[in-house]
Amino acid sequence: MKVIIAGAGAMGSRFGLMLHQAKNEVILVDGWPEHIDNIKKDGLKANFNGEEVVAQIPIYHQNEVASVDFSADLVILFTKAMQLDAMMKEIKNMVGTNTKVLCLLNGIGHEDVIKKYVPLSNIILGNTMWTAGLEGPGKAKLFGNGSIDLQNLGEDGRDATEEVIACLNKANLNAKYSGNILSSIYKKACVNGTMNGLCTILDSNMAGFGETDVADAIVESIVSEFAAIAKMEKADLNIEEVLTQIKSCYNRETIGLHHPSMYQDLIINNRLTEIDYINGAIVRKGKQYNIETPYCSFLTQLVHAKEQILGAK
Ligand code: NAD
Repeated sequence: MKVIIAGAGAMGSRFGLMLHQAKNEVILVDGWPEHIDNIKKDGLKANFNGEEVVAQIPIYHQNEVASVDFSADLVILFTKAMQLDAMMKEIKNMVGTNTKVLCLLNGIGHEDVIKKYVPLSNIILGNTMWTAGLEGPGKAKLFGNGSIDLQNLGEDGRDATEEVIACLNKANLNAKYSGNILSSIYKKACVNGTMNGLCTILDSNMAGFGETDVADAIVESIVSEFAAIAKMEKADLNIEEVLTQIKSCYNRETIGLHHPSMYQDLIINNRLTEIDYINGAIVRKGKQYNIETPYCSFLTQLVHAKEQILGAK
């Protein structure tokens, strides 16, 4: 397939590399000049499960793609949530009438942005358990295994979605069709909507927060707000299952000693966060449905205050 990775940071590099290794025609589109320059000069470098690899994959700055002739079969979106609209605008001439657009960003409501540029029948929503990191511009750190659940947004997109699944699976990306993608998106958003913001504000790893005697009460209050919105959106959310998954993050033997990605973005790398697309999305939808969301609202405000105190960019 001819594939555009729109947003070639940590996750985009993983997907770009694995699809390139599986002999797809891949191009990367990104907005970080230093990263783009390094990949143009030396190729995309990665520590891939302990092995140092280099792949020569074409990469373009998103502000230069208007003149690039590449009619893609598939666009995989991997910007940060706040970069999505600008990216969609800049790649729109590469999105043809048959181009499928797969969104794998964390967070809620990205379809509202994508719908402005792509017909519903070409949009695929997904949720991925793959992870990735960047060691620096041009170099990714890719460890472990993952999976992807995906579903077409429009009713008539199933066959095309199965083709995308086959393409991803040829690259060992473990994709499968989901009959209810919104549920898995909301489930993951609950984990991100608790661990990310709370550990960032409290300057704690997940175990440290989880072992406080107020952790359960705070997490249950936040999850109940997500569940109320999920219900309005017809996303089936099993609260007990969600709470069990969140509590599993506290385990010191597994991932409890890690700081979640928002902590790394803001506290370590001084970057703006995706809070507006996780807890902030619940606040916006709460207003729409007339549902109170005080915990999500307060956490969103606290994270924005922290971004401003630290001068995050
Ligand atoms: P990322 O920050 O690595 O990349 C996103 C964009 O930011 C890219 O365009 C990248 O070039 C740019 N960028 C990265 N570091 C930068 C820096 N220091 N200065 C300037 N620009 C920089 O994001 P990601 O981790 O690939 O995540 C993309 C999406 O996937 C997000 O919605 C995220 O929540 C989601 N996600 C991430 C993971 C993960 O393990 N990283 C897992 C699942 C989902």
